[in-house]
Amino acid sequence: MYDFHTHTFLSDGVLAPVELIRRSVEAGYRVIAITDHVGQGNLEFILTTLAKDCEMANKRWDIRAVPGVELTHVPKDDIDRLASDARDMGAVVINVHGETVSEPVEPGTNRAAVSSDNVDILAHPGLIDKEDASIAASSGVLLEVSARRSHAYANGHVVRMAKNAGARMVLNSDAHAPEELLSREFAMKVALGAGLSQSEAVDLLDESPKYLLRKIDRELLA
Ligand SMILES: [Zn+2]
Ligand SMILES: [Zn+2]
Repeated sequence: MYDFHTHTFLSDGVLAPVELIRRSVEAGYRVIAITDHVGQGNLEFILTTLAKDCEMANKRWDIRAVPGVELTHVPKDDIDRLASDARDMGAVVINVHGETVSEPVEPGTNRAAVSSDNVDILAHPGLIDKEDASIAASSGVLLEVSARRSHAYANGHVVRMAKNAGARMVLNSDAHAPEELLSREFAMKVALGAGLSQSEAVDLLDESPKYLLRKIDRELLA
């Protein structure tokens, strides 16, 4: 399993970063990105803290753990700048907390995220429109299919818009607690429940993460 969107007690999750990594080793994960909620103020603290635990875990355990962020409820006009700052501070995966149907995220957040060169994933994009999906298709920002209750309400719509536009998707847990880490079985149910066929669901679980990892590794070398 691969998961590019998780939270620890550094924001509103329940586990310490290193325990989340330990739990994900036990859950059979190959790769985990820890992407706590950030704004301008806690960006540096989150990234320096996560980097230390990821580095320690990577040396000892059979997993690739990478530090990341989820830019959350920041003004849309600051998204690109903060994503760039996050990259400079060592964020490997940069998620933007998209316009989920369950929270009053600032309208225009989806557009700012898919238009930024520094964003990797637009998380839970909610009722994303056609134009934003086609910008994502050309910018390479992945649209998230969310396994998290409340954000998952719009998965069927996200899948339809992404497929029509030719945008790539990725499935993440958005786990805030250990029992929310993904099993292959549950991830398949979420993918199929969002309207994908069996082969599209397998592609989402197996190929999209590899695509994202290649992109991440290019960014790390650049
Ligand atoms: Zn979020
Ligand atoms: Zn999240």
